[in-house]
Parts: sequence; structure tokens; C-alpha cells
Amino acid sequence: DRLIAADPREGEGSIDHAIRPKRLTDYIGQPRVREQLDIFISAARGREESLDHTLVFGPPGLGKTTLANIIAAEMEVGLKSTSGPVLERAGDLAAMLTNLQPGDVLFIDEIHRLSPVVEEILYPAMEDFQLDIVIGEGPAARSIKLDLPPFTLVGATTRAGLLTSPLRDRFGIVQRLEFYSVDELTEIVTRSARLLGVESDREGAREVARRSRGTPRIANRLLRRVRDFAQVRAEGRVNAEIADLALNMLHVDHHGLDHMDRRLLLAMIEKFDGGPVGIDSLAAAIGEERDTIEDVIEPYLIQQGLMMRTARGRVVTRQAWEHFDLAPHERAPQ
Ligand code: ADP
Repeated sequence: DRLIAADPREGEGSIDHAIRPKRLTDYIGQPRVREQLDIFISAARGREESLDHTLVFGPPGLGKTTLANIIAAEMEVGLKSTSGPVLERAGDLAAMLTNLQPGDVLFIDEIHRLSPVVEEILYPAMEDFQLDIVIGEGPAARSIKLDLPPFTLVGATTRAGLLTSPLRDRFGIVQRLEFYSVDELTEIVTRSARLLGVESDREGAREVARRSRGTPRIANRLLRRVRDFAQVRAEGRVNAEIADLALNMLHVDHHGLDHMDRRLLLAMIEKFDGGPVGIDSLAAAIGEERDTIEDVIEPYLIQQGLMMRTARGRVVTRQAWEHFDLAPHERAPQ
């Protein structure tokens, strides 16, 4: 079980609700995304139209769901949420679409996991606000067409490349979320600490930020664990030393890497002499799904310059050997 897994967990709901930014001005970082959306939203509002369909992509926990909520709030419209794997049958999507109020945002998370039959329904809905659906079976089957209210589809996915091109082409706005800088995450941790009533100095917030894999969801989760530690050991006050002790106890290293990150890098070093190694061999070596490696683990390691994706497979960089205090091609102690 990954402590710093970027997926939402049960029990975080109410806390999450309290600290999730509600408006574009509370959304920290991602300056390019914020600036563009600000313009597109103002323009759509000025014309009294719904916003163009928007695709948001990037690793888990970077703020895609948050952005969908912000778009609805800024447009002053309702939001209905669902996800690719939940929409099993064409009728599931038809039910959502026919329930929309004019201008509503329909948020589909993991949109790359829509089944082909459901995707077929989405095309005319996105393009012409038309629902084209077959009801009944055999000789009694009939095709019906319904007009839908104008709406904005906000789709989220971990990688834009996972979408079929007809689907991708139907989004007028495409935004890519980047990992957050330490400064941006420090601001996020400071804001969350304030909203949660955690007493933290700047250096304490910065230490949590430095070790959060560039990801707000992880920063918020680590803050909660550091808060527990501070409550029991330091009368509730978070500073750099307390944060460091707590994070060490949680096996989050100084680079913010957790045990899955270290396992992946060490497997490449120990079993494949640093690579190149194919993704499937790597997945088998660490007993992890290929998708998890590609979507969750490696994007940050690549961004940090610890590994690279080459035509011949994955390779670790010199920096990764150094991270483990190894000279390149020297094996880790068993
Ligand atoms: P995703 O949908 O990409 O997996 P979420 O939108 O659920 O990620 O974001 C995870 C959490 O991180 C949110 O609950 C929110 O509190 C926080 N968060 C995300 N982006 C930001 C941001 N730009 N500023 C402040 N907090 C953020």
C-alpha cells in the first residue's frame, strides 16, 4: 500500500472538501492553464454561451477534478460527475446527458476508459448536442434522436495519448497539468494548514512541499500525517525538524520518493544494470501493473531526471545511481 499513492482514498472526503480550491483565484500554480481558462471562461460568459468542451490531462492528484469544479463555479452552472469505467452501457451515458440543465458541466474522469459503444454516443452529443440512440432489440428496435441542452464536457485523463483521435479532436480546449514546483506546493501546504487549523511555520510547510512528488494531493496527505506526528510529539506545532522526522518515519525520502519509486529504480539498477529495459519486463520484476508504472510512478521520476524513456526501453540516469550512493554500474548492497 502506497502512502503517497496519488489516488483518492476513502475517508478523505470531508477534509478534501474543506481544502479543495473553489475558484480560479484559489487555484495555485499552473499559471498557463489558469491564464488561458480565465480568458476562455470570460469570453464564453460574455457571449452567454457554454464553454467549449475541455480536456485536462496529467498525472493523478495534480488538480483535474478540482479544475472541473472550478469551471462549473466560474461559469455559474451545475456539475454532474461520472467516470469512464462507470459508464458501461450506452444507456448510462444517455441518462446522464438527458439529465443536464442548459450550460451544465458534465465531468467524465478517466475518459480514456469509455467503452467504444459509449464513445459513439458521445460524438454527436459533443458536436451537435444530439442524442442518437437505439432502443429495443431485433425487429422492434428503433433509433431515436433527441435534442440535448448545450453543455460543457470536461474530460480528465492521465495521458492525452490514451484517447482515440476522434474523441480528442472534439475537445476545443486541451490543457496539460504539470508537476508543481516546491514554491507552489509550499503555498498549497500553507493554505491547507491554515484551513485545517494546523500551526506550521514556513520551513515546516516547505519540507512537506519538497517531499510531495510535485503533487498537491500528496502534499495534503503528508500534511495530515505530519500534523498527527506534531500533535503527539511537538504540541501540534509543525516546523522543518518535525516534518523531517515524521516523513522519515513514513519512509518518504529526502527526494520525496516513496518505497515504490525506490523499488522501481533499484530494480532497474540491480536487475537490469540500469537498463535499457522494456516496460513489461520492469512491471514483472516489481510485480506492478504496467499502467501504474506509466501513469503514476514514472512521470515524476522522469520529470526529476532520475530515469528516461528511450526507443530501446527505460534507463536510469547517473542521478539515480547517485541517489542510492552508487557509482554507475556498481550494484546496490543486497
Ligand atoms: P486529480 O483529479 O488530478 O487526480 P484533484 O483535483 O482531485 O486531482 O486534486 C487533488 C487535491 O489536491 C484536491 O483535493 C485539492 O485539494 C488539491 N489541489 C489540486 N490542485 C490544486 C491547486 N492548483 N491548488 C491548491 N490545491 C490543489
